[in-house]
Amino acid sequence: MRRKIVAGNWKMNLDYTEGISLFSEIVNMVRDEKNGNQIAVICAPYIHLNSLVQLSAGVVKIGGQNCNQNESGAFTGEISAKMLKSVGCEYVIIGHSERRQYFAETDELLASKTVIALQNNLTPLFCIGETLTERNDGSYFKVLERQLDHGVFTLSAEDFSKIVLAYEPVWAIGTGLTASPEQAQEIHAFIRTKIENKYDINVANNTSILYGGSCNPKNAAELFAQKDIDGGLIGGASLKSRDFVDIVKTFNS
Ligand code: PEP
Repeated sequence: MRRKIVAGNWKMNLDYTEGISLFSEIVNMVRDEKNGNQIAVICAPYIHLNSLVQLSAGVVKIGGQNCNQNESGAFTGEISAKMLKSVGCEYVIIGHSERRQYFAETDELLASKTVIALQNNLTPLFCIGETLTERNDGSYFKVLERQLDHGVFTLSAEDFSKIVLAYEPVWAIGTGLTASPEQAQEIHAFIRTKIENKYDINVANNTSILYGGSCNPKNAAELFAQKDIDGGLIGGASLKSRDFVDIVKTFNS
């Protein structure tokens, strides 16, 4: 059975007080209103992580937004997977398009970040997705294939089974342009077939694949109703407690 997950990505937003306040609202609402097995996750800036874990009471899981590929050492400004784990994080986003674009993170680098995250018992939320140019010139299947081949298909079946994938078309992130449910389902089915070809049908059927890109309370239900979409990675809407929790509640029975 694959996990249904709604993960918020706060990016570089919210000072300490704002973060605590928003998270407290989210925890209370999720506790009172969630009615199902879906997992709510917040991936926050580092200054918040320790406090959010303390406030979460296990109701909302906590994740980092990045980790370094090394265990420890002279990497000023970086954070290790072990550090994230030590404050109680359970998840870490790896390969977000903003990291690929602004920090020149390559598929190979992301593969090593994934390995170190798994070694430290974090669940990588591994992002893939094509740019608008790649969508328009029709190369997007090839791009996604490359990101999978070099980023995560180097893992053993056992390790791959521990990760969560997120399909995030770059043209939909923060733009208000959402992939249609049909466009998203087409890609999610393509990804699942690739997993089956690389590993086997069981691994494919048990991998959670989230959709990300301008997901909001209005479009979540239709997206999450697609057979191969197992939840969402939510940017902007995770900064508003009501919107985020309404997306989480999309899975309520
Ligand atoms: C994201 O940054 O992962 C994301 C999906 O952002 P938004 O929901 O704002 O498009």
